[in-house]
Amino acid sequence: MAGSKVRNLQVSSKAEQKRLEKQKKKAKSGGFESLGLSPNVFRAIKRKGYRVPTPIQRKTMPLILAGNDVVAMARTGSGKTAAFLVPMIERLKQHVPQSGVRALILSPTRDLALQTLKFTNELGRFTDLRISLLVGGDSMESQFEELAQNPDVIIATPGRLMHHLSEVDDMSLRTVEYVVFDEADCLFGMGFAEQLHKILAQLSENRQTLLFSATLPSALAEFAKAGLRDPQLVRLDLDTKISPDLKLNFFTLRQEEKLAALLYLVREQISSDEQTLIFVSTKHHVEFLNILFREEGIEPSVCYGEMDQDARKINISRFRARKTMFLIVTDVAARGIDIPLLDNVINWDFPPKPKIFVHRVGRAARAGRKGTAFSFVTTEDMAYLLDLHLFLSKPIRAAPTEEEVLEDMDGVFFKIDQAIANGETVYGRFPQTVIDLVSDRVREIIDSSAELILLVKTCTNAFRLYSKTKPLPAKESIRRSKELPREGLHPIFKNVLAGGELMALAFSERLKTFRPKQTILEAEGEAAKSKHLQGPSSEWVDVMKKKRAIHEQIINLVQQQRSNNNVEKAIKTERISTKSKDKKEAGSKRKERSFKDEEYFISSIPKNHHTEAGLSVRANQDFGSNRLESAVLDLVADDTSGMQRQKSVYHWDKRGKKYIKLNNGERVTASGKVKTESGAKAKANKTGIYKKWKEHSHSKISLRGGEENADERMGDHRSQGNNRNFKGKRKQRYVPNAHVRSEIKDIEQVRKERHKKVLGPLQ
Ligand code: AMP
Repeated sequence: MAGSKVRNLQVSSKAEQKRLEKQKKKAKSGGFESLGLSPNVFRAIKRKGYRVPTPIQRKTMPLILAGNDVVAMARTGSGKTAAFLVPMIERLKQHVPQSGVRALILSPTRDLALQTLKFTNELGRFTDLRISLLVGGDSMESQFEELAQNPDVIIATPGRLMHHLSEVDDMSLRTVEYVVFDEADCLFGMGFAEQLHKILAQLSENRQTLLFSATLPSALAEFAKAGLRDPQLVRLDLDTKISPDLKLNFFTLRQEEKLAALLYLVREQISSDEQTLIFVSTKHHVEFLNILFREEGIEPSVCYGEMDQDARKINISRFRARKTMFLIVTDVAARGIDIPLLDNVINWDFPPKPKIFVHRVGRAARAGRKGTAFSFVTTEDMAYLLDLHLFLSKPIRAAPTEEEVLEDMDGVFFKIDQAIANGETVYGRFPQTVIDLVSDRVREIIDSSAELILLVKTCTNAFRLYSKTKPLPAKESIRRSKELPREGLHPIFKNVLAGGELMALAFSERLKTFRPKQTILEAEGEAAKSKHLQGPSSEWVDVMKKKRAIHEQIINLVQQQRSNNNVEKAIKTERISTKSKDKKEAGSKRKERSFKDEEYFISSIPKNHHTEAGLSVRANQDFGSNRLESAVLDLVADDTSGMQRQKSVYHWDKRGKKYIKLNNGERVTASGKVKTESGAKAKANKTGIYKKWKEHSHSKISLRGGEENADERMGDHRSQGNNRNFKGKRKQRYVPNAHVRSEIKDIEQVRKERHKKVLGPLQ
């Protein structure tokens, strides 16, 4: 008895030891565990579906958590928002009633600010931090109300924040201890420089300042030098593992279409003097493709883990001697072999880990050679594709649909070429016509080989097992993959579109998504009516017509909302694909006007700019002048009018009796107002709107910290259910226009109205 107790104790202490070891390992792993976050923040990260930190998060978070000022070169799609939000929430912890605003996030656009608010709410869901959104487009009064509730965090566009600062005497930014300039290059590019300098001047000396930017133009570097204290520069490694000369092509298709797609690539896309490495997931696939290729008259080399040493040597040496042009391998086999530099890599099965992808394609396009990586992506692989792009810090977008191409073929392809040249990934479908044609041939080959017929089943089973054992993608990536817009044909099949198949493709794509407005009852009934038949069908038509007359508006409203949602989703995913569309359009317009000679044209963006924005990030780099200079990248307009625009212009403000510096895009109207971001006029002088609001609402904004017991006031609001933007203990979300009365009647109202109709007015 005593013996078994001792044994039990030993077992449990062993289990405990194992658990501790596991925890230690995790803490060392560079995952979120190693950051020492408080449970509330860690739980929210897991809830959000982040499994491992992205490179930019891994590099910046420890620095920010340690209290450093940081300049991080990161673009949208790299996970940068969480990189500054997680340390912010960790630092603020909970709502402190008397401290005033403690964190300020400046975003260049309303959309980005909204997105940041959403992430802040999600990552701060287990805290009671209060967040206020100050962006153009919402009424000033509703924002006064939010400010009166003593927020801990303000997320703002600079124009609107300045407007508030000029209106509200009691508003101060002195209490702010954590400032983020998000997409700082856009902030500057959009002409907010003046406002940013003013905001900087209003902040306390003891703050922590972070600047996230895709590029570092010299004006921004100057700003960073002036506004940040000994900042640490985090930028992406220059010696990235993916060669800048490697083209990345991602094709979406179904699992059963891969054979046809592979044969097409091998026959049509890859030149006969190029060497290609083909990665598959199991040795059965290696065997299958080996036979299939031979049947097609192509002799490949093959290699898999359990292969006999001599056979392996012979296969590899034949490939090295260029006697074979294809080498079919599994990841396990590829690890131990010395493969020469080659031209192409084909990922038959999408690698489940970004590092495996990098490892696979690492042998292509080296030593000044060009190369291409072709990857097949099934619906299940989409989340892995997003994970990969987070890891590479590369934006990704869907190829334009056939409808978009039909509208403006040249324009659309011009934009796509630009996006690819800028380092964006464009994924697209494999043409169905090609798949159908080659599939017939594949079927023929398989049917004529007993070996292949047997292997088909083995491969299917092996793949099922492989799918079960591969690591999962981040939950957030799974969620995002479901919201991706429909993709068109991959741009490398441009000629298929140009060949007159466009109309047919557009039609067939439309057919797939077509939803008839009429119901089946109406359609059948109309048909019966047109044939002058009486009966239930034609009666149904009348019923449906009556119903439609009553509910038409609601139906249209719902449909409109759905399409709006889709548009929102499309916008969201568009956001993955780099910063602002406007910027690119501006770029493309500029290019249209210029007559640049490709040979002598020197781009303002280095060719390897995006690979530079690649894998890991060198942490703890000094922001010394040398480093800074090497990071500075000035985007200079390539036409005279652009250069002209870039010059700062000064305007004499008669009332203020001083010069006002106007930045890019700003101009002064006849009434002396400065036009900003969205063309909105920023009023230089107070309008009294705050005074009016104060008298009307009997409230007061006090953001100076500790001046007043704001919590009492908050308590009132809570009891009235009026704290729409703040999260108390219960989960509360920001609801735009929540103050507007709902047009939807509640049950009681509907009941009363029905009663009225049936019985006449209630007494
Ligand atoms: P951002 O670059 O901040 O716009 O983020 C791009 C997308 O990546 C957003 O949808 C984030 O929710 C998502 N994301 C950020 N960090 C991670 C992570 N560690 N794992 C998975 N997804 C992430």
